[in-house]
Amino acid sequence: MELDKDATFLVTGAGGFIGGHLVAKLIGEGHSSVRGVDVKPLEEWYQLPAGVEAIQGDMRLLGDAHKAVEGAHYVVNLAADMGGMEFIENNKALCMLTVLINTHLLEAARDAGVERYFYSSSACVYAAEHQTDTNVTALKESDAYPAMPEDGYGWEKLFSERMCRHFREDFGLETRIARYHNIYGPIGSWHGGREKAPAAICRKVAEAKLSGKKEIEIWGDGHQTRSFTYIDDCLTGTMRLLTGDYYDPLNVGSSELVSVNQLVDIVEDIAGVSLTRRYDLDAPLGVRGRNSDNTLIEQVFDWQPTTRLRDGLEVTYRWVSDQVTAQ
Ligand code: NAD
Repeated sequence: MELDKDATFLVTGAGGFIGGHLVAKLIGEGHSSVRGVDVKPLEEWYQLPAGVEAIQGDMRLLGDAHKAVEGAHYVVNLAADMGGMEFIENNKALCMLTVLINTHLLEAARDAGVERYFYSSSACVYAAEHQTDTNVTALKESDAYPAMPEDGYGWEKLFSERMCRHFREDFGLETRIARYHNIYGPIGSWHGGREKAPAAICRKVAEAKLSGKKEIEIWGDGHQTRSFTYIDDCLTGTMRLLTGDYYDPLNVGSSELVSVNQLVDIVEDIAGVSLTRRYDLDAPLGVRGRNSDNTLIEQVFDWQPTTRLRDGLEVTYRWVSDQVTAQ
């Protein structure tokens, strides 16, 4: 589908990491009517590019959802009460309450006759039994069933995926669903408890460099594995899904698997430091290993994320290091 540059785009969670980048990209590409909504006050948004119609609203409330969606042709729902492993392990009820956001936005989108509706799901929908080994078999979309997702956050995501599917089947709303795998990049959460591993490691390395303290704390034994997806790839994948014909959930994730120790190696190398590692085995850990199987997205779109971890981390480290220095 060709996007109409004059049609109205609604990005929810626009004050957040991915939402901020998406709004900036849409405006940069010449979309004339981009509306962003977030529950946070405008001064707390990560990005507020000129030209965006920025509104504060709580998408858990049906009335606010209707107001935000009014007149929109395309909706990208990125709003969620979420964070890194520490946040989602300790706030399962809050994560599950995000179900209200997608539910009310779907109702509002159906009522407003929205043309396309995108939902940001997560690799946390996959059952832990597929992720018990550091040397993982990458997760393919069909592995989500039989269902046993991550407690709290993952169940909400899986339920909301199904809600999208049924709104498409029963009401003809064109829904699209991405399962994001560990998105990272600059201009997002980097401290305070909601940040993810790449930003947290960049911050710890930058702090160690600045203070001269030659030590870093790492959560777990450092052998746990993950793949990390750079924000530019996330946005490309999002737009492909939004405009494409494929409506079942698709992984949007890098397949470059690294251990947390390797992640630290790369960041240390970028920063030009070598630190003594102290492993906190009691910290929240998540699954033992996780990677994205990209066979399906390759088949459907002849595309998969391509940014090398090292390249994405260079940009991310520079930005996080600037924040640490400024603070
Ligand atoms: P983020 O926390 O930076 O952004 C989410 C935004 O949603 C925040 O600004 C928050 O204030 C807003 N929000 C929360 N509750 C709201 C409400 N009731 N009404 C309106 N806005 C509300 O997170 P992100 O990394 O940008 O993630 C965006 C989406 O992608 C989320 O749905 C998330 O679950 C999903 N996702 C992200 C990752 C990742 O690695 N970043 C991985 C998988 C899935």
